[in-house]
Amino acid sequence: MKKADELQIQIDDVYACRGLCAGCVLSAVERKSTHPDMSEFTFARTEEALVQYAHECKPLRRVNVTYGIADHILMGVDYLVKIHQSGSRIVTAGNPADIEHSAVFFTTSLVGKPANVIAMLKETRARISGEVPFLPLVVLDGRLMQATKFGPMFREMVLVAKELFGKVDLATNLSAEAVTAMSPDELIEFAEINGFDEVTVNWAPTIENSKSTLSDIPVIFDWLVRFDALAVERPWIGTSFRPVIERTVNSVMCRSDGSPNLMTAAREILPETVAKSIEIDHLGFVLPKLEAIGDITHAERHGFNPLGHINDGALSDTIRKATKGFVQSVIREHAKGACVECDRTAICAGTGFHVATKVARITGAGSPEEHGCPHVAKALIDRIASRMEIEDAKRTAA
Ligand code: SF4
Repeated sequence: MKKADELQIQIDDVYACRGLCAGCVLSAVERKSTHPDMSEFTFARTEEALVQYAHECKPLRRVNVTYGIADHILMGVDYLVKIHQSGSRIVTAGNPADIEHSAVFFTTSLVGKPANVIAMLKETRARISGEVPFLPLVVLDGRLMQATKFGPMFREMVLVAKELFGKVDLATNLSAEAVTAMSPDELIEFAEINGFDEVTVNWAPTIENSKSTLSDIPVIFDWLVRFDALAVERPWIGTSFRPVIERTVNSVMCRSDGSPNLMTAAREILPETVAKSIEIDHLGFVLPKLEAIGDITHAERHGFNPLGHINDGALSDTIRKATKGFVQSVIREHAKGACVECDRTAICAGTGFHVATKVARITGAGSPEEHGCPHVAKALIDRIASRMEIEDAKRTAA
């Protein structure tokens, strides 16, 4: 197995949020929380386990630590300073060569009185120190864009955050409601006006949110295609799903002789993914963090078992022991229903689309499999991969 040269870590310490995104992975009850959901003991143990893991993974090019999932601003300045210090220790333990692109991120919805939020951001900036950047990852509830007062207030907060921290990324949770409330053109325009550097669309079906995320698949697909076309025209916008699919197509094709194989793709690509990209939930469970349309976790809320727990011993051992079972669970999901006849199954298995597939099968949401793929994966992969195949054929002929 190729050694991972970067670490992408997510720590799910805060679930509190005043937003109402229908595509959120958290339930409404979880979002009502008013305090950090990760206990101090688990927080400290998580840091210890990740510092050791980052140290073992050296040499590394990049290390990024994201504190998610919800609104960290609600936890106050002391808490923000604490997560920056803890995340910095993890980044530093990996001694990344590319320190410019290594950082600690924190999620926030920037919902609140602008004067209060701005005061908190300024105090946080004044109190953090060290060379590891602390960057806001702003999660936008698309329905807020319709509120007349929202735009100018939000813009003010984002511009201050950008001035203070140097970079601000935007993410939004896709659902049937979100695609109706906010067109791709509006989202891109919003990102441009407000000075965001990166826009990530997260589509993360869970068993609980499946009605919102897996209904109206053709409408969600059209939204993604339009968003992709706009993003391609604007190279300054970093987005997630096109690079993920392109990377996986390349990775699968260079491992095959023109006939990609599900088993080979899953067994060769996924162990590297899970070694470099992990998530620790609020209880300390260790989860594979994958990418399809944005980030998606292979977790209980999607119908899967965790890899293990941070108290099981060294994280490297926990991941190593659980990887075979994880890969088998991905292969199993692709050996059923419409996936059996699908000609993109090897590429699909190299991403995180199996999570949406599992949720569609458990809940019965999604498109009927007798007509093909239960969601957006096949049509999106076809669209991106066939363009790559044409370009490749042109290059070979030249
Ligand atoms: S693209 Fe759809 S049908 Fe094909 S393997 Fe993936 S989920 Fe299954």
